[in-house]
Amino acid sequence: MDKIVALCKRRGFIFPGSEIYGGLSNSWDYGSLGVELKNNIKQAWWKRFVQNRDDIVGIDAALIMNPKVWEASGHVANFQDPLVECKKCHSRFRADNIKDGICPNCGEKDSFTGEQMFNLMFKTFIGPTEESSNTAYFRPETAQAMFVDFKNVLDTSRKRLPFGIAQVGKAFRNEITPGNFIFRTREFEQMEIEYFFPTPQNDSDWNRYFELWRKEMLSWIKDDLGVGLEKVYEHEIEASELAHYSKRTIDFEYDFPFGRSELYGLAYRTDFDLRNHEKSSGQNLKYRDPDTNEEFIPHVIEPTWGVDRSVLVTLIDAYSEKDGKVILKLKPKLAPYKAAVFPLLANKPELIKVARKIYLDLKQDFMIAWDDRGNIGKRYASQDEIGTPFCITVDFQSLEDKMVTVRDRDSAKQERIKISELREYLGDKIK
Ligand code: ATP
Repeated sequence: MDKIVALCKRRGFIFPGSEIYGGLSNSWDYGSLGVELKNNIKQAWWKRFVQNRDDIVGIDAALIMNPKVWEASGHVANFQDPLVECKKCHSRFRADNIKDGICPNCGEKDSFTGEQMFNLMFKTFIGPTEESSNTAYFRPETAQAMFVDFKNVLDTSRKRLPFGIAQVGKAFRNEITPGNFIFRTREFEQMEIEYFFPTPQNDSDWNRYFELWRKEMLSWIKDDLGVGLEKVYEHEIEASELAHYSKRTIDFEYDFPFGRSELYGLAYRTDFDLRNHEKSSGQNLKYRDPDTNEEFIPHVIEPTWGVDRSVLVTLIDAYSEKDGKVILKLKPKLAPYKAAVFPLLANKPELIKVARKIYLDLKQDFMIAWDDRGNIGKRYASQDEIGTPFCITVDFQSLEDKMVTVRDRDSAKQERIKISELREYLGDKIK
């Protein structure tokens, strides 16, 4: 982890937040390369699960919703963790994170206060006065907007069951023990889908959708993030441990350097949310079957992905070292830069002119880096470290034959490609 954190800081993927003021505990800012990687992950997800499918549509809802939403969803009453305090050093921890009664901070044994329940929602006030009647919450998950907007989406998209509503956006949780870099922070992004289907007549009716999503989630990890499944585990949550809304949950866990921990989740939320919102709002949230005219509240399967944990797992899996040098083997689709363009020598205007034209042309379609400092070996190493899959060098021969050397990050193989074919070449490789 230390190597990943250092690389992220050194190369501008992720920095400590508010650093000039001494930071803010566990807040992180994405830098110029990190924001590209994160956006590429979100775009790949949106393309795969929204744009490429007929049965899922997207929304982008407000972060602060009517507080009644969180009463109906059960978050005001139930979204809490047990908090304990060490009587010796006064550090606070989530009770379920304490092992053998030992304080993770000072090592004292059995010195904890009794458990106190602590609600994880961030409170704020709407308007100029801080009165309880004005209390609102930053959303602790994106999911509720899909239920609250269900009727509007249904009426405007005219989708038929089964169909899903997807959203990517920020969520906020006042976590008691954030940490492990961007793994657990107080503000983070989620990519969530609520996939609605008719009232199941038996367990196999809903399990069918659950299984479909289970496979989709594994395929996303492998095919889109390019992360091998050897370190991914499915953890079936026991009935007694299930969240208040869930009938079945699987946590997809990953062997992070700090231990096996949750990457993503998949839950069968039944009709819990729509039913409660119908009751609380007094609005009809039923679906009317266009063939039978029958009205009912659909059930829902919820696959949920943390964006920041996706970034972290992608970085960890891609990180490799060769001869003491870092190579970030990111999938080309996710890499911040798709290629870097180099003039062989920085002081030859005829080389610069050709290289600059290639750079500007390719930039119309791809994120392209430019580097004319130091020797070619240093430039390769610098691009390897940030995961740039291809380096394009313009040399003196290029002026004659209108070809350039393209070097592949992972194999270090070089081939000569016609300048006029570079765009197509990169496009094919990235796909
Ligand atoms: P955990 O058990 O790790 O607290 P959770 O089960 O509460 O997570 P969910 O409510 O299922 O998490 O949230 C869905 C997804 O959002 C998680 O699988 C994870 O990827 C991401 N996530 C949740 N909490 C955080 C956080 N504090 N920081 C970063 N990502 C988070």
